[in-house]
Amino acid sequence: MQNERTDNPPIDPALGLSPSDEHNLTLVDNVHPPNWQNPSPDGRYNLVVIGAGTAGLVAAGGAGAMGARVALVERHLMGGDCLNVGCVPSKAIIRSGRAVAEIRASAEVGVRATGDIEIDFASVMERMRRVRADISPHDSAQRFSEHYGVDVYLGDGRFTGSDTLDVDGASLRFSRALIATGARAAVPPIPGLADAGFLTNHDIFNLTEQPERLAVIGGGPIGCELAQTFARLGSRVTIIEMADQFLPREDPDAADLLLGALERDGVNVRLDTSVVRVETADGSKRLSLEDPTGTDRITVDVILVAVGRVPNIEGLNLEAAGVAHDRSGVRVNDFLQTTNRRIFASGDVCLAHKFTHTADAGSRAALQNALFPGPKKRLSKMVIPWCTYTDPEIAHVGLSEREAEEQGIDVTTIEVSMSEVDRALAEGQTAGFLKIHLETGKDAILGATIVARHAGDLISEITTAMVAGLGLGSFAGVIHPYPTHAEIIRKAADAYNRTRLTPRTSRLLKRWFSWTR
Ligand SMILES: Cc1cc2nc3c(=O)[nH]c(=O)nc-3n(C[C@H](O)[C@H](O)[C@H](O)COP(=O)(O)OP(=O)(O)OC[C@H]3O[C@@H](n4cnc5c(N)ncnc54)[C@H](O)[C@@H]3O)c2cc1C
Repeated sequence: MQNERTDNPPIDPALGLSPSDEHNLTLVDNVHPPNWQNPSPDGRYNLVVIGAGTAGLVAAGGAGAMGARVALVERHLMGGDCLNVGCVPSKAIIRSGRAVAEIRASAEVGVRATGDIEIDFASVMERMRRVRADISPHDSAQRFSEHYGVDVYLGDGRFTGSDTLDVDGASLRFSRALIATGARAAVPPIPGLADAGFLTNHDIFNLTEQPERLAVIGGGPIGCELAQTFARLGSRVTIIEMADQFLPREDPDAADLLLGALERDGVNVRLDTSVVRVETADGSKRLSLEDPTGTDRITVDVILVAVGRVPNIEGLNLEAAGVAHDRSGVRVNDFLQTTNRRIFASGDVCLAHKFTHTADAGSRAALQNALFPGPKKRLSKMVIPWCTYTDPEIAHVGLSEREAEEQGIDVTTIEVSMSEVDRALAEGQTAGFLKIHLETGKDAILGATIVARHAGDLISEITTAMVAGLGLGSFAGVIHPYPTHAEIIRKAADAYNRTRLTPRTSRLLKRWFSWTR
């Protein structure tokens, strides 16, 4: 393995990271330093934060910067899922997959790459580990301790009362606490799966050798992103989803476009299909599949499970703290407060929208509500966008058409195809659309879906309008640089304004022009 020196010290197996190369060693030095000395608790903390993923880091850093006495407790790797086994490593390998797709499509723009494309999987993964290590100083124990003045404890946090937490024998007293312990991959109870062995997001980024045949169980965002990427990198991928569309929360037209894109990338797509059994044979894994037409089997080398997330609440002893919880996690009210008024929660452990940016926004709100008097921030007031980073990307904000209708709102949808956007034509990226949902007769935006190469960037303009209360019509007056993909939003505004041209206004305009000729 490149960069893996034989004299590298081994990484603590409990951290679940491999290989022990210079990048992973740098990562560990930052986010779980081997010789870290926990501080000795001395008096009551303003805020104790359990979990140092995005939700915990934002809260601890914010409170520390304002001068509060803060303890931050992490049992595994600071940075949590996002840095270590989520957003960062997935986006790094997606970049490599896109490079492959660009080369394969280059003949369409008149550039013929001759010969075979050589994909060096080990280098792709090494680059990912380097990117992750390069980002890790932002989330490091040293930075939070020295820069933000936070007491960083590496160990397991466990409540011992309504205002006390134990970390490996040290008792931390708090005025307020934030539970930010995140979530982990759910594992479906498929007979034989555990015995056959499988990967989740926790270990897939440890791979250094390419799986020749990969089965991805689950067609949500994580499953789709990784299925497409591994297929582009050369694995033979089958993706299996129980529902009859990918990304069940998304617009069906968006899911359809994604289906076509995955198939073009060579992914064997099995919608409406369940895995009913897994067996091992000759070192391979055999999956029995069931769909409405019957049963069949596929044989693979590696199985990736991506069927959803379960909250990390076991071991926290929430009962001792009087914090209610259920299967979806810690229960919070609209102010992110738990059933113990001193204890708040944020991030994947309690929120329905399990994203880094909602963990961030939730923690900012919880911090304000926990530490300061005055107006409280409400979860229900947040306008939450998200994006699945497949190619094309699928981004959404606000209500879908179906959700608006379920709420009894009469919806008008303005739709513009990417093929109407000059830049998309020039780039050869015309697959996609923008749909904006309005309350009929008004131009206030209820929600929007964008399918486009850079949909994740485009959605922010619409999110800004929703937060600022700007109607769609006002975009017609916003000058967009030509030619850009973002012009699709102005085109939607023009389309909306045309709908306001009533027969009476048309008649008046005709009269005006004949009078002024
Ligand atoms: C493959 C993948 C790709 C993703 N891509 C994106 C993306 O592109 N964009 C996006 O917005 N989101 C993405 N996400 C989701 C994102 O990673 C999560 O929403 C985000 O990390 C949640 O942050 P968190 O702080 O709530 O939880 P986490 O990041 O899970 O952090 C929780 C921390 O708490 C620690 N902990 C748990 N229990 C205890 C305890 N008892 N004591 C001490 N510490 C404890 C854990 O070790 C962990 O470090 C992705 C997720 C995955 C899996």
